[in-house]
Amino acid sequence: MNFSPGPTNLPAAVEAEVKKLFDSERMCSMYLSHRSPEFISILEETTKLAREVMHIPDNYEVLFMHGGGHGQFAAAPMNLCTSKEDKATYLVNGTWSQRAAEEASKYATPIVVSSQNKDGSFTSNPSLDNIDKDSKYIYLCSNETVNGIEMHRLPKLGPDSPPLVIDASSDFSTKSIDWVESNVGLLYACASKNIGHPGLTMVVIRKDLIGNQQNICPGVFCYKTNVEGENLWNTIATFNVEVVGIVMKWILQQGGVEEMETRSIAKSSMIYDLIENSNGFFCTPLQDKSIRSRMNVPFDICGGDQELTKEFVIKGWEQGIVGLRTKTPFGVGKLRASLYNGVSVENTVKLATFMDQFMKCKQ
Ligand code: PMP
Repeated sequence: MNFSPGPTNLPAAVEAEVKKLFDSERMCSMYLSHRSPEFISILEETTKLAREVMHIPDNYEVLFMHGGGHGQFAAAPMNLCTSKEDKATYLVNGTWSQRAAEEASKYATPIVVSSQNKDGSFTSNPSLDNIDKDSKYIYLCSNETVNGIEMHRLPKLGPDSPPLVIDASSDFSTKSIDWVESNVGLLYACASKNIGHPGLTMVVIRKDLIGNQQNICPGVFCYKTNVEGENLWNTIATFNVEVVGIVMKWILQQGGVEEMETRSIAKSSMIYDLIENSNGFFCTPLQDKSIRSRMNVPFDICGGDQELTKEFVIKGWEQGIVGLRTKTPFGVGKLRASLYNGVSVENTVKLATFMDQFMKCKQ
């Protein structure tokens, strides 16, 4: 039972399908030429399924790129700002949007609107009032994986506002996206949380925004180059693409992205309710329930008591529960239950039961 913030497990049924890829009659996509007819049909199928799951309109291109979230921190300004003087608004509500703004300052002029508290923590979203209308785009991270802050719906800033650029690395495919109403210009997600394995980054870019890249933009990060090369400008992560396709098919079979959202609400509510009802034994930093992440539930035991935390992690491990404590920068020592698509409702019940039993035996 892996509750890691990522990389992490895919749904059990998906993992069973992935294992079969090595024994099938067709050569496994890991060893297939990326320009072979066999792989091109896998790529087309994965793209089609991803479009269907996420209801991606025809005026958007879908790319499977390299470089992870950090690659896109640089790619977004290099592709959408024609020079370093171009402004872009960065809504900073946690670790990853903060890092994205820092990276963007190499290629553009970010206007940072941050909700960071004086002690360095993040417990709210920045204000959307007075957004700079001359910005090339408005950047946001729809789920801050470390801080546990989620925008359950993207803001609708109106047709006059610049397009949104969204880092959906840790919530993509867990809720629907209103591409047109929210004026989404670019959205990306590194695969290793909800849709696949590390080594692939899914990028969705609106067609009218393609082609404004700076001269310094490397081909591997250039949306125009990759679109013109039909996703095969250089060697695409063949196996990872096939895995994303299997995940998308599974999501459709389960009832689509709406069902993923229903499950995410059920799983996260179970853990938040337990924390709320623990009389302070467990504690989560976010008081504003409307922005609590359904993907990553951060929590402490007895105000961060390290001995108890250590015992909790070891006892959990003895029951097959792993991934609750990772050495994430800025989050060291804290606990976090990550509840991506690969975590079943049943396993979340087991985590909640374990937490409850641990608490009772300490009281
Ligand atoms: N954005 C978010 C929301 C993330 O959770 C992460 C990684 N955990 C990143 C960006 C960075 O992605 P990568 O490590 O693939 O560069």
